[in-house]
Amino acid sequence: MAQRNTWQRERVREALEGARGFVSAQSLHATLRDENTGIGLATVYRALAGLAAQGEADSLQSPEGEALYRACESRGHHHHLICRSCGLTVEIAATDVEEWARRTAATHGFRDAEHVVDIFGLCASCAKAQDDERDAD
Ligand SMILES: [Zn+2]
Ligand SMILES: [Zn+2]
Ligand SMILES: [Zn+2]
Repeated sequence: MAQRNTWQRERVREALEGARGFVSAQSLHATLRDENTGIGLATVYRALAGLAAQGEADSLQSPEGEALYRACESRGHHHHLICRSCGLTVEIAATDVEEWARRTAATHGFRDAEHVVDIFGLCASCAKAQDDERDAD
């Protein structure tokens, strides 16, 4: 198959690496539009799905059910702590979760089990900003 969209995919990857935290296809598309790349939203979706499938990007569902993507620093299996206000993302290892997942799968006779565990919350600075706002009322 001809790789005629290679440059577009490279641009999407660069935009993803330049983004802070997890971003949606729409917001990445908006960034690329500002740069006049002429890359369509459908192409952004395709490129992101391709990057995620090849392990070059992490993907997850936001609490609202939207697909979010990020160029990850860690290559291996890992988890995330994500601020739902500013998008700050911390990559975390979760030894307890690995052990629990392996045991639970084995108990039910499952093999080749995979899991996705991401924690959404408010980061320290967003929590503080919210507290300050509340105090001002
Ligand atoms: Zn990650
Ligand atoms: Zn935050
Ligand atoms: Zn895990």
